[in-house]
Amino acid sequence: MIQAIRGMNDILPQQTPYWAYVEERVRTLLTACGYAEIRLPLVEFTELFTRSIGAVTDIVEKEMYTFADRNGDSLTLRPEGTAGCVRAAIEHGLLHNQTQRLWYQGAMFRHERPQKGRYRQFHQIGVETYGFSGPDIDAELILLSARLWRMLGLAGLTLQINSLGTHAARVAYRIELVRYFTTHIHALDEDSQRRLHTNPLRILDSKNPALQTLIEGAPRLADHLDEESRVHFAGLCTTLDRAGVAYQINPRLVRGLDYYDRTVFEWVTDRLGAQGTVCAGGRYDTLVEQIGGRATPAIGFALGMERLVALLVDAGVVPPEQHPHAYLVLAGEAAEKQGWPLAEMLRDALPALRLVVHCGGGSFKNQLKRADKSGARYALILGDEEAQQAEISVKDLRAEQAAQIRMPQHALAVFLAKQI
Ligand code: ATP
Ligand code: MG
Repeated sequence: MIQAIRGMNDILPQQTPYWAYVEERVRTLLTACGYAEIRLPLVEFTELFTRSIGAVTDIVEKEMYTFADRNGDSLTLRPEGTAGCVRAAIEHGLLHNQTQRLWYQGAMFRHERPQKGRYRQFHQIGVETYGFSGPDIDAELILLSARLWRMLGLAGLTLQINSLGTHAARVAYRIELVRYFTTHIHALDEDSQRRLHTNPLRILDSKNPALQTLIEGAPRLADHLDEESRVHFAGLCTTLDRAGVAYQINPRLVRGLDYYDRTVFEWVTDRLGAQGTVCAGGRYDTLVEQIGGRATPAIGFALGMERLVALLVDAGVVPPEQHPHAYLVLAGEAAEKQGWPLAEMLRDALPALRLVVHCGGGSFKNQLKRADKSGARYALILGDEEAQQAEISVKDLRAEQAAQIRMPQHALAVFLAKQI
């Protein structure tokens, strides 16, 4: 038996209502706030990712699905959406003398060790903005995500924020950090020793409990921020305070990708075990230029659908009902002749009606069983007798006491309209 690839999941009918629920709310919210959807390819030239994400990040070092195209080009399944979004915005002139508020959704691919909340094909909803340099847009994105949690009925996510300063400020800080960790090199684990000279900021992000005291004692990026970044960050904090959004300043929040500067943030939960970051983002003011466009300030975030859905399930949030309203049972030849025109008439009259028409024949009893199993509220029963009188029997499958009424077929649409 051929099975799915490890870490690449089927999302089964039982789960899709949660996904549809999130997608529908996200679309409503983002559209209401002036964000336009963009759809991007799943595959890009490998160079796009190595140039933007950074050569010594987890993603580029070991997580990319890279392959040679038939003509020899090196291509990569996208591990994230920001790089492709920037590429598209430059390519189509979306950044010329204008600002952009964009969003996208879809599958991302990373060759990670599959575990709960961590997969090889996973799905993100990404939001990106271009051309805004002030902290107001940083706040807008955070308020937007906070509003989304409320719209979804989710409580208990914690917001962590930090500022990484400018690239120049980080270079100076990095020297101090390397000096500090070098004096404690024997206390570092293998991973951190390797990062010491490639990407020392990532040591701060280590989850190894044995390193936590050492990390606590490390020099703080906040003490090395340039003045402009300090003012920017203070501006963000003030707006969040005014809007009543609670946050924690986490000086060790550094994010795993190279392109961030200034504001970074994460929404985290303790309900999902080790994979607790549901949504993460930050400012990337130098990326557009790095990919070949004119320097353009930018900030965005991405949320992980699998983790968000797991959280909704854990929180007992129930997505809207998707069961059929009605199931049409067709018993006998006359009924089958009348059934389809009747169903078409109902669908014309009531576009929102969820109606399943029985297919495949079978006994009356069997069809009723199917009707019940479908979760439908009503069985619409068309037997020979009903067919002769142009009538229909309507059985409430969810009533405590079996209740069945009979009515003319032409009255059915009016009856059902009241039930949906
Ligand atoms: P992590 O620290 O968990 O590896 P990351 O920093 O690599 O996350 P980002 O690249 O910022 O993650 O992606 C944004 C969000 O996408 C994450 O917060 C998470 O919700 C989700 N995500 C990232 N990688 C995976 C994965 N392999 N499986 C499922 N969801 C993921
Ligand atoms: Mg990761």
